[in-house]
Amino acid sequence: MKVIEQSYFEHAISTDRDGATHFEQKGPEQIVYLQDEATALQAIVAIHDTTLGPAVGGLRFLAYPDEQAALQDVLRLSRSMTYKAAIAGLDVGGGKAVLIKKKGVTLTEAILRKYGSYVERLGGHYITATDYNTSMEHMVQIAKSTRHVIGLPVALGGSGDPSENTAYGLYIAMKAAAKKVFGSDRLVGKKIGVAGVGKVGSCLVSLLCQEKAVVYVTDICPDRLQTLSELHKVVIVTTEHLHSLPLDIYAPCALGASLNAETIPQLNCAIIAGAANNQLAQPEKDGRRLFEREIVYVPDFLANAGGLINAVTELDMRSFNKNLVKQRTEELYSICLHVLDKAAESCCPTEEVAQSLALTRIQSIKNAFVR
Ligand code: NAD
Repeated sequence: MKVIEQSYFEHAISTDRDGATHFEQKGPEQIVYLQDEATALQAIVAIHDTTLGPAVGGLRFLAYPDEQAALQDVLRLSRSMTYKAAIAGLDVGGGKAVLIKKKGVTLTEAILRKYGSYVERLGGHYITATDYNTSMEHMVQIAKSTRHVIGLPVALGGSGDPSENTAYGLYIAMKAAAKKVFGSDRLVGKKIGVAGVGKVGSCLVSLLCQEKAVVYVTDICPDRLQTLSELHKVVIVTTEHLHSLPLDIYAPCALGASLNAETIPQLNCAIIAGAANNQLAQPEKDGRRLFEREIVYVPDFLANAGGLINAVTELDMRSFNKNLVKQRTEELYSICLHVLDKAAESCCPTEEVAQSLALTRIQSIKNAFVR
């Protein structure tokens, strides 16, 4: 296990006019490379920021072109987790792990136990959970060698699959954006496109159909579309076309980077609110592109915070209950409205405003240490 501490990364300390010292950290606190020849485990853990609490973030199992690509992915994802926790008012920090999917490597019990034993050695600074290609069942295996895992089944005292609550938080975020843009948060009759109908997308479709929105869906997996269309009245569209259809709301719920220099000019929607992490290929440039096109973008780390809200309640079992999760998730409505109002007032992209609110919360705690 190779650990790279924060000194490797850029950070700056400045003093303001009142003499207060500010600590600005641009990179993660710690990067840990995990390697085990016996199981062919190769993983990277990024602990981005632990000012508000231990770094929480999922384990992603994905093939990457090279190690640099995996590192970039885990760094971006861990930073989003920091923003997500901070803006949602949670007392945890941001982290993430990627387990590199090599040819012939599958998530066996041996590899998951080994991964868990490395997470254990991090002493609780990083708490692992599910993400793309990892499930509750995988967390059960990981829990055999570490205490620092959440997203376990309810039967084992965990909070269960967070996807349903991620979808609920996204639905709440959509309503807040609709209130801002259309003057009402009713979604009845609104044309809403959902790209990716996996765990989150399918739950979202169910909520939208209950409210009688007109729902367009796409997925690269035909079976998922088939199953969904048997359950709900949806319009199936090809993956290449959904984002350019005339829509009130577009919801990217597959993988990241779908909003970029090529797709943004083709968009034909008033609002974007989706579950996928890192939707903007280049956060600054693409956030501005959306702003210039007057498309209201709910930052992904805010729109999909319901999953983290659900999972972290597992850390405090004294307070774990469904009603509390629901109540905390519904608070996303006023947080979204605040971000959208502030962005409109300051003529700034919503992504920048949301990041700044998240960083201000973290900064206020950091500065308390260095004053
Ligand atoms: P999932 O794997 O269950 O579903 C993703 C779906 O997207 C799959 O059906 C897949 O076939 C489809 N897909 C992949 N590429 C596509 C493409 N180019 N066009 C259309 N569809 C495509 O994943 P999920 O748990 O539903 O998560 C969706 C996204 O939300 C991911 O980016 C995930 O990181 C993020 N997210 C999920 C949660 C959660 O609670 N599950 C929480 C926060 C963020």
